[in-house]
Amino acid sequence: MRPPICAICRKDFRHNMESGGSVRFTRSAEEQVRWKALNKPGYVGHPPGLEWFCEKHLASAKAHRHLTWKEALPIIKALEKE
Ligand SMILES: [Zn+2]
Repeated sequence: MRPPICAICRKDFRHNMESGGSVRFTRSAEEQVRWKALNKPGYVGHPPGLEWFCEKHLASAKAHRHLTWKEALPIIKALEKE
């Protein structure tokens, strides 16, 4: 697992874990293959499609979890500018 740093604004909230959270997005075909290769006993890396968000970006990330991370990222970033 990566440290909890917001995927949108890079805010590091590892000293205040309750302020943000992780969202698991739909895995793309490529991520699905990668996950199968990685998901073995003793695996300690970061699962594909899982991203961290600070309190400001967590709600919009959750609203787009049905998309892949690549699809969701530009949408969440565009929402932020509104
Ligand atoms: Zn953020």
